Amino acid sequence: MPRIRAAVCTAFGAPLEIEELDLRAPGPGEIEVAIEAVAICHSDIHYAEGSFPSRLPCVLGHEAAGRVTAHGPGVTGPAIGSRVVVTLVRFCGACPACLSGHSTICRDFDRADTPLARPDGTPVWNEMETAAFAERVVVHATQCVAVTEEIPADRAALLGCGVVTGVGAVVNAGALRPGEDVVVIGAGGVGLNAIQGARIAGARRIVAVDVSQSKLSDAAAFGATDGVLATDPSPWRRVAKALGRAADLCIVTVGATAAYDAAPRYVGWGGRIVMVGMPAAGETAAYEPLKAAFTGQRLIGSKMGDAVIARDIPWMADLYAQGRLELDALVSRHWTFDQINDAMADTEAGGARRNVIVF
Ligand SMILES: [Zn+2]
Ligand SMILES: [Zn+2]
Repeated sequence: MPRIRAAVCTAFGAPLEIEELDLRAPGPGEIEVAIEAVAICHSDIHYAEGSFPSRLPCVLGHEAAGRVTAHGPGVTGPAIGSRVVVTLVRFCGACPACLSGHSTICRDFDRADTPLARPDGTPVWNEMETAAFAERVVVHATQCVAVTEEIPADRAALLGCGVVTGVGAVVNAGALRPGEDVVVIGAGGVGLNAIQGARIAGARRIVAVDVSQSKLSDAAAFGATDGVLATDPSPWRRVAKALGRAADLCIVTVGATAAYDAAPRYVGWGGRIVMVGMPAAGETAAYEPLKAAFTGQRLIGSKMGDAVIARDIPWMADLYAQGRLELDALVSRHWTFDQINDAMADTEAGGARRNVIVF
């Protein structure tokens, strides 16, 4: 049983502690991956702060890439030595959610098991079924997708969550049709990917809404045709002015309930609102049911961009290789594993697109 270094969350709101843990060998259907790069996602911060329900002690980290080092019984791929993107999307492939193409919401697996333990035998939870803030992981084989060697590990890692979540929110959950108008609320890591997803899928105009002028400049570089400051007293009016009408699709990528309160104002009759950003557990938003019922507006929850990872990750990796999907500019900074708390703090401060830990 390998002993690995992992960043352990021992108390909510406290810095992660790097500990040596035992990682059990992969069981049936599982594989072991040596992590090369892991990005910090806002969900990791929510868990570390206790904003999402969790069990302690745990290891976070779910946007990763690495090389396959061992197969459990019954696993035939990806091949040992191959580069894989590691995601939190664990699925059974046989339940109604999986069979209807929604494997991101499959719940048909056992969360009671964890491959990690302290040397004294105390279990350490693999939060989000991944635990990639560590030198190695043991995950279910369905969570890994092989990608070409052309894509560097720090870029490949981003495909594991932020990129599929943003692009998928537009293409899968939002079902954007070419020529439609899109507004993306929040131009952070996920928002920029929603913007490039809208560009790739053929939107007519893409308006970014953010509280920061510098993030609106980032948005323009990723394909936004217009930018509106969220601090405007009625940003939805400015968006409608830019479009000449209300939007067809609004993607909410921030976890602020105020953004959810405002979202229906951006879309017109039949408009769709895709809910991606995750406020803390227990927070609520208000909307007017009459308006949605009368105008045919739809609220669509979207976890991990409704991605079918074995289809969407190779697609996005290939677009990157062709120069049609931007990943390089998503990486704000590289950090060592020992700097993980500084990298988390930098992400929490809100300026970063993606901070990536490189092993
Ligand atoms: Zn994430
Ligand atoms: Zn399933």
